[in-house]
Amino acid sequence: MRWAWKIGKLAGIDVYMHATFLLLILFVLIASWVEKHDAVTTVYSLVFVLVIFGCIVLHELGHALMARRYGIRTRDIVLLPIGGVSRLERMPEEPRQELLVALAGPAVNVLIAAALFVFLFLVGRLPTGREIANISWNGAHFWGSVLSVNLWLVVFNAIPAFPMDGGRVLRAFLATRMEYTRATQTAAHIGQAIALIFGFLGLFTDPFLVFIALFVWMGASGEAAMVQMRTSLGGIPVQRVMLTNYRTLLPDDTLDKATEYMLAGWQQDFPVVFGDHVLGVLRREDLMRALAQGGTSLAVRDAMRRDFEPIDSHDMLEQAVQVLQRCGCRSLPVEHNGDLVGILTMENVGEFMMIQSALRQARHAAAATPKAMTSG
Ligand SMILES: [Zn+2]
Repeated sequence: MRWAWKIGKLAGIDVYMHATFLLLILFVLIASWVEKHDAVTTVYSLVFVLVIFGCIVLHELGHALMARRYGIRTRDIVLLPIGGVSRLERMPEEPRQELLVALAGPAVNVLIAAALFVFLFLVGRLPTGREIANISWNGAHFWGSVLSVNLWLVVFNAIPAFPMDGGRVLRAFLATRMEYTRATQTAAHIGQAIALIFGFLGLFTDPFLVFIALFVWMGASGEAAMVQMRTSLGGIPVQRVMLTNYRTLLPDDTLDKATEYMLAGWQQDFPVVFGDHVLGVLRREDLMRALAQGGTSLAVRDAMRRDFEPIDSHDMLEQAVQVLQRCGCRSLPVEHNGDLVGILTMENVGEFMMIQSALRQARHAAAATPKAMTSG
């Protein structure tokens, strides 16, 4: 991770701080010094920023722990001045799961705000509406300000643009009615449109909006670029591409049967199964070698190779292709819960990419009639 330092580990997840987060701290320190010229107030501001920083970490932890419930690990958490980013190893495929993972972060801030609200209510020090709207970095109302920061974090993340959680909520919503990669692109475009509006408004009102707009624009285009790569490979589970119409062999079958299957169909590699469980793979090379040595009466079990690398149907295509390239094989058996569910070949992947590209062209052609936004 460039421009980021590791600052700790929480629930087994590395936490990094991005260099720009230091800018925020610096900004607060300078602003507070310029305003009050007082060391105590400046230290107070620093403590305040660190408490907010803690709230952001808890927010990210909310995402990470919800993702963990769906068996998704979080690579790391990176803290940025506008919030944090949890880098999940993969995104949940089900829109409902992505929705819950996206909502889990802001839900933590709602909880913190609610707890502070109850606390401040009991001690009779609830912040006024004006205090909530204008967060005081160096005023006397410490916990009231922490409460309002948490509320702002919720509001901010409700913006339907990447990298905010609202962007993921939007994508999850779109993904229920259109294809996942297209949903991402649409969400990224909406995010960029929002960034433009923010930047424009910021020019005339608050320069901080321009700053936010920049982040939103970067987040949206980053997500869009990732989608461009994903549209061809990643972000697509293997099960959508794999061959499901194929033949298998039993370990007790003779090589005669294997040659018969090979000549009659398209397959060159055959999974050898016991029930739905893959015991090995008989590749064309293995078959030819065994035929040359022992003829057609040999059993498949004596010719197959057992050192195959199975992939899961829920794995992403990106990883699966890496496995295909690493082992230098033509095909891989695809399993789910230990059962054979398909075969993935390079040809498969190639065909899938061609189909995707053709469909993209069709979409562009359709979009070219009205004034089109540029897209990948
Ligand atoms: Zn979040």
